[in-house]
Amino acid sequence: MSESTRSTEAREQAAAALRTILDGNRRFADGEPSSHVLTPAQREALLPAQHPVAVVLGCVDARVPPEVVMDQGVGDLFTVRTAGHSLAGVALGSLEFGVRILGVPLVAVMAHTGCGAVLAALSKDPIDGHLGELTGEVAGRLTNVVGHDPVGATGANLEATVAALRNLETLVTPDGDEAFVVGLLYDMASGLLIVEDDAGLLADA
Ligand SMILES: [Zn+2]
Repeated sequence: MSESTRSTEAREQAAAALRTILDGNRRFADGEPSSHVLTPAQREALLPAQHPVAVVLGCVDARVPPEVVMDQGVGDLFTVRTAGHSLAGVALGSLEFGVRILGVPLVAVMAHTGCGAVLAALSKDPIDGHLGELTGEVAGRLTNVVGHDPVGATGANLEATVAALRNLETLVTPDGDEAFVVGLLYDMASGLLIVEDDAGLLADA
């Protein structure tokens, strides 16, 4: 991915979106989130179109809802959630919708501690059905993980997901900007997001 394929505007927009997410997470972790209750008038204002600040790929785990842990409201995040943020099936198309149709230049992958999908992928127990496809995909990202290492596996899963999305040639906005893909790790104990890979967006923050 070269810098020449991205405008300064897209970079600034993506960086601002990442800071918005991190600021919101700080409010959440501090136990002082904003109110996201909408008045009827505010709901009506959202009717014509959606303008989310970021596309988020997260896990289905009930304890890690992106809108809550990032303290964002209705209309703020374009969220795709799959177990272990696997990309099988329609997840990629949904992510593309956020970038290609809505023009969002930031894709945030949010891994989390204690991820059951990662633990299932680490175990050698065979799993049938679509669930097996899913854990199989996650397991394929863990080939360099030695032994039973959930922390290492969580990091490897995040890194591989970010790399897979960056390798796509289809995450491009209507203005021709390749989306910035960042990797975040949500620590369930502290409530904090750890920036594992900021795609260079926070360099001059
Ligand atoms: Zn999970």
